[in-house]
Amino acid sequence: MLNSKGFNLGRRRRRVIKVVKKKLPTVFTCPVCGEEAIRVKLPEGSGPAIVQCGACGLKREFAATPSSQIVDIYCMFTDAFYSKDKAQTPAPVANSA
Ligand SMILES: [Zn+2]
Repeated sequence: MLNSKGFNLGRRRRRVIKVVKKKLPTVFTCPVCGEEAIRVKLPEGSGPAIVQCGACGLKREFAATPSSQIVDIYCMFTDAFYSKDKAQTPAPVANSA
């Protein structure tokens, strides 16, 4: 086994970074009505991003930065939605992270 770097062998952090350059989805599933009708509108410059469902009319605003992506906003939206839900009925966390 080569050990030119000395210590720290075998304790390397595994980092798996996938660069996905696919076209990002722009319509998401609505947690309220279940329709794939959630659209995220990013602000031009400063201002809130707007999440709106075209089926049930749900509308939320989230603070966004110029580097925010549509999926980031949707994540915030679902996080806020489900964390509010969790406050009443804690669900088992199936997170293998
Ligand atoms: Zn909806």
